[in-house]
Amino acid sequence: MAVFYRLPRARGSTQIFSMTSTVRAFSSSSISNSGNDLKSPSLLAQKSLPLRREPRDRNVHWVFLGCPGVGKGTYASRLSNLLGVPHIATGDLVREELTSSGPLASRLAEIVNQGKLVSDEIVINLLSKHLEAGEAKGKTGFILDGFPRTITQAEILEGVTNIDLVINLKLREDALLAKCLGRRICSECGGNYNIACIDIKGENGSPGLYMAPLLPPSHCASKLFTRSDDTEEVVKERLHVYKEMTQPVEEFYRSNGKLLEFDLPGGIPESWPKLLRALNLEHDDKQSAAV
Ligand code: AMP
Repeated sequence: MAVFYRLPRARGSTQIFSMTSTVRAFSSSSISNSGNDLKSPSLLAQKSLPLRREPRDRNVHWVFLGCPGVGKGTYASRLSNLLGVPHIATGDLVREELTSSGPLASRLAEIVNQGKLVSDEIVINLLSKHLEAGEAKGKTGFILDGFPRTITQAEILEGVTNIDLVINLKLREDALLAKCLGRRICSECGGNYNIACIDIKGENGSPGLYMAPLLPPSHCASKLFTRSDDTEEVVKERLHVYKEMTQPVEEFYRSNGKLLEFDLPGGIPESWPKLLRALNLEHDDKQSAAV
């Protein structure tokens, strides 16, 4: 069966690509937990651009990798504001779908609340629809957060678009768990906060780690909720799933020279300037602060 993938191109109009052998795998029964009731997915297509473009040309196609709780959303969202590029978190797309009254909602809720991954087919379908809607509004480029999470997703993405850079955020596991358990979200504005105060002392020459809580402003404080998959049991399962399914994706991008390893030195005040330096974006940050 021929399946076509369509994604908005970074510049100009939409282009439809027929399947390559890699993409063909997507329609096969080898994809676990696949939802046959879904429409054929469509994905963004663009080839033969230079591997890395200057960030300042704003035609950014970046990916954030990293374990649950590491701060992908925080830093992707800050970069999105700084560069004027859409931040797309597939976890948000999945949560939007599961709170809808759509046919997938209860199935998705069950998968997410067990800490498992939803099928490649479902997540690509949600992402494609989102990108198409963005393209219709004239949006170009993206900073992806939480996608790709499997080798199949990475191969499909690689087959249809040109990722410039993959930022791999890293933090020790005890801090990841504490950050997930401390995460709170405002039900009104969607703001993300964290009540955990991480203060791990250095031992035997290994450095310590301090991450101050990110407390909500008073108007959010009474509207906070905890994600249903941020319980200790589910976070541990999500960390396990990351090692099994997503760590190979780090190697996929490492081997094609796109991976930027980034060890978080602490909370936002320490990590944000270091990240800007690593991305050569300090100048942009100063400009936006001056506006
Ligand atoms: P996140 O907000 O990124 O932690 O994602 C929340 C949940 O959404 C995950 O635990 C998965 O169940 C699902 N999810 C998000 N992105 C993906 C993806 N790329 N592939 C499969 N499942 C995903």
